[in-house]
Amino acid sequence: MSKESDWFTISLELHRKYGGKIEVVPKVPVTRLEDFSVWYTPGVASPSKKIYEEGVDSSFNYTLRWNYAAVVSDGTRVLGLGDVGPEAALPVMEGKSLLFKFLGGVDAVPLVLRERDPDKFVYVVKVLEPSFGAVNLEDIESPKCFYVLEKLQEILEIPVWHDDQQGTALVNIAALTNALKIVGKKLSEVKIVLVGAGAANIALYKYLKVVGANPKNIVVVDSKGILHRDRPDIEVIRRENPWKYAVAVESNGEGVVGGIREAMKGADVVVAASRPGPGIIKKEWVSGMSDDAIVFAEANPIPEIWPWEAREGGARIVATGRSDFPNQINNSLGFPAVFRGVLTVRAKKMVDEMFVAAANALANYAEERGIHEEYIIPRMDEEEAYVQEAMAVAKKAIELGLARRTVSSNELESEIRRLIERPKKYLKLALSSDLIPALPPQTHK
Ligand code: NAD
Repeated sequence: MSKESDWFTISLELHRKYGGKIEVVPKVPVTRLEDFSVWYTPGVASPSKKIYEEGVDSSFNYTLRWNYAAVVSDGTRVLGLGDVGPEAALPVMEGKSLLFKFLGGVDAVPLVLRERDPDKFVYVVKVLEPSFGAVNLEDIESPKCFYVLEKLQEILEIPVWHDDQQGTALVNIAALTNALKIVGKKLSEVKIVLVGAGAANIALYKYLKVVGANPKNIVVVDSKGILHRDRPDIEVIRRENPWKYAVAVESNGEGVVGGIREAMKGADVVVAASRPGPGIIKKEWVSGMSDDAIVFAEANPIPEIWPWEAREGGARIVATGRSDFPNQINNSLGFPAVFRGVLTVRAKKMVDEMFVAAANALANYAEERGIHEEYIIPRMDEEEAYVQEAMAVAKKAIELGLARRTVSSNELESEIRRLIERPKKYLKLALSSDLIPALPPQTHK
């Protein structure tokens, strides 16, 4: 079970066998028919009446809403598959919902929308708001995704997150924070190259500034070369992608021109989120970077440069998106805990300070365990990291007055811990009682 084609074959077979990956199960006792008089009519009229009388926020007290997140996509940029449409995006959104539950104890529901118009998409999500405690946007093409996120963050009274933007930025910033500690360089001083100017790196650029990087020291490269204010296609960029335009005019203080090779000369850090390699970044270009170079090559499934090539080129710290190499930059280290945090305190918004708290908690967790060149970020199986990260987000929301609910630190910790452990306990029970049939043996390595 090591070849990618094997995973494709087995995955297709198992998706059909299990009929998808998640289902709705009751969480209240139902042992006799009369119990429905409590959970449904006539009893259910009383929480409904209460919400009507007390105001809409009290729906968080009496319904699933407090732990319910929407995973919303229009299917326009699904994984590396591209614009495959909402139905074909559903397996991915369902998979994301499974990760939300398993890693963060979040009840997430996949919602794929047959709507390509950004304003209508925003409208649909807005009218769905009363059912949810938070929204995760997913696999929406750039630049539409920038508009949709900004608009929804502005008009919704629950946290909105676009994982391809903020999720990626969060894990990158945590990893970079620790990588810089190891090489003894300061974020405010380093020269950073971002290869790729899509959802991932445009968001990373924004958050690098939030945590103290100097935009003049950042050089961004897209498929046509280095972004700068005098690029021949700058007017087209301005019209078609104002977010990328803003980066082009603000970044690259030295006015470097050319491609990836020129951008990387003398750089301290390169973060590539562009297109599958290898060969997008060359070993010789890594050699042209400064001492103790940091190279994150994150294209999936094959990084822009293989880690061993980056090392041969002189990189001191290398990270990729893959689990088979050290330093995996994996969004799953971010979104489950971030949502666990915001939902637990019923936050009204997701703001930059909460993002920074999450990134610091992740970085600190790894640092406390002893960071080195091959351990700059927690691994996905380090459950305690999720607890610490969720706590940091929840506490920050309370501190900023953005929580609908205030709880003591001890209560918060035990609640978060219980909710993160719950799905694992539940699965164990379901597997041992054969409610969920075990995987066939050939799916295990
Ligand atoms: P996107 O389609 O929004 O953007 C891709 C960008 O790369 C575009 O700006 C494009 O111009 C640029 N590009 C394409 N070919 C290039 C080249 N040869 N040189 C320079 N730039 C080039 O995609 P995205 O969501 O930003 O993701 C980009 C890549 O990063 C994908 O492979 C994705 O799987 C990967 N990614 C990995 C992680 C992770 O592992 N943690 C997270 C996010 C994205």
